[in-house]
Amino acid sequence: MSKRFKVVVTDFLTHPPDTEERVLGDLARVEVLRAHHEDDLLGRIEDADAVMIYHCLRFTEKSIARLDRCKLIVRCGVGYDNVDWAYARTRGIPVANVPDYGTEEVADSAIGLTLALTRGIALLNSQLRCGAVDWSYKHAAPLGRLRGRVFAIIGLGRIGSATALRAKALGMDVAYYDPYAPDGRDKSLGVRRVESLEELLAQAHVVSAHCPLTAETRHIMRRETIEQMPTGSYLVNTSRGAVVDTSAIPGAIASGQLAGAGIDVLEHEPPPADDPLVSAWRDPRHPAHHRVLVNPHTAFYSEEGLTDMRVKGAEACRRALVGLPLRNVVN
Ligand code: NAD
Repeated sequence: MSKRFKVVVTDFLTHPPDTEERVLGDLARVEVLRAHHEDDLLGRIEDADAVMIYHCLRFTEKSIARLDRCKLIVRCGVGYDNVDWAYARTRGIPVANVPDYGTEEVADSAIGLTLALTRGIALLNSQLRCGAVDWSYKHAAPLGRLRGRVFAIIGLGRIGSATALRAKALGMDVAYYDPYAPDGRDKSLGVRRVESLEELLAQAHVVSAHCPLTAETRHIMRRETIEQMPTGSYLVNTSRGAVVDTSAIPGAIASGQLAGAGIDVLEHEPPPADDPLVSAWRDPRHPAHHRVLVNPHTAFYSEEGLTDMRVKGAEACRRALVGLPLRNVVN
């Protein structure tokens, strides 16, 4: 078969497209566009037969309207809130995601953040390193035993379920709120379903967010909902930044409402210099300095996961180009 198709990788990828070419090379030429903004795509995507997009760009009507012969837009990742999938549907262009490349990595990271916070590991390391305290476990007090405490999950999908199994292995009492999960998931995983967010938050030792970003989940954790958690509990977010209003965290840490927070994702990435959470976390005089962990949207990352994401994204394009049934279509 000749290379009669063109596939573009719009953003994120800075490597040559060697992995994508191993999957698509006999069919298509693969162009890496390294765009930082949608406007960088002008004149470069119009004749693409398939588009691979990561999370560094918004892909709106403005770009989608210019696609003349696109058979698939694939979001090489889980969350597709940066693609106007509803508009793509009106143009007859399917949008698919790559849902499973990093399920275990994100779950491992959520549990990693949980353990670093609830066992006092991050707090003591941070205080000791800057000479703020003497050589004693007491500076992490009071720490409770994890066994039997409630690990509260918002959104029991792929990653929420993988995290639930890990929290169960720690002996935690796993509960979840997910109004859209079908009946029975609680039984297959041996965890507890609760019917309202309020009920979940009131009993949580740790709240871990694993829902998509939607109009309903935007700022689902904010000052009012954090105040529904017990004093001295913990908040972990490895889902999407805007699921948590992080401007509420410094105050909640200062008041003792939260004993710690683990934040892998922010509403604006990278964050502006005056971001309230990041400013407090960088300030050695603010209690958030020792009690908050911030990572640069890295929970998905492992070398194997990154390869899976690229291979599976390219395989989705291949199926679209040769006319095979598509998988993981979200629109
Ligand atoms: P999924 O679609 O398998 O699961 C999401 C679950 O959230 C579903 O069960 C859904 O019913 C539930 N949900 C939807 N609306 C809800 C609401 N209002 N309240 C409670 N639950 C709700 O998705 P997943 O693969 O498990 O991914 C979960 C999240 O992790 C997504 O936000 C995704 O973007 C994010 N993610 C982050 C990283 C990272 O590196 N930090 C990597 C991959 C995925």
